[in-house]
Amino acid sequence: MSHRILLLGAPGAGKGTQSGKLADEYGIEHVTTGDALRANKDMETEYGTPRSFMEAGELVPDPVVNEIVEAALADADGFVLDGYPRNPDQAEFLSEITDLDAVILLDVADEVLVDRLTGRRVCDDCGANYHVDFQPPEREGVCDECGGELIQRDDDTEETARERLEVFYENTEPVIEHFRETGDLVEIDGEAPPDEVFSRIRDVIED
Ligand code: AMP
Repeated sequence: MSHRILLLGAPGAGKGTQSGKLADEYGIEHVTTGDALRANKDMETEYGTPRSFMEAGELVPDPVVNEIVEAALADADGFVLDGYPRNPDQAEFLSEITDLDAVILLDVADEVLVDRLTGRRVCDDCGANYHVDFQPPEREGVCDECGGELIQRDDDTEETARERLEVFYENTEPVIEHFRETGDLVEIDGEAPPDEVFSRIRDVIED
């Protein structure tokens, strides 16, 4: 059975970590607009490059991300969507191109999010996530998985992290509210340990 899963949550809620595990567990595509845009930061579009929006913590214009998602979903049998949709217009576009089997919100308090984002380190090669205090690598600055270099994302500074949370509450909360009203939203405590969060997500999907 194919799975079409939408994982919602603020920046730092754990969407990337959990999506990676889901993709492995079910053999589905991890479709993440954030990674796709980071890999194409200097791509010329009629709105300019993604870089300026991303470094300011703002949303990249809808047509750019909609196109990325449409192409990714066309190639995918099952998928877990991470970081999209981020506003009601993107949600509308998504509903026109696919149906979803599960919509899951990872719920995490604001102050926890800021701590997670500012302490986050990401492998430059394989994308694995770490945290300087909560989940340090065995050797500082080196990825446990592949030996790659761990870097801090440009937008994980405190100022930009707070801006991204503002953008989330203004633009993405209404998307969450929409799925709450349709009765599709399942909320999970995203502050639980990652393995526990994963096992709860799996329960939702297999229910
Ligand atoms: P993320 O890795 O999901 O935190 O995304 C990093 C940045 O990429 C965001 O702060 C936005 O600038 C941009 N971005 C990612 N996904 C979207 C989206 N669905 N819509 C607009 N901008 C996005």
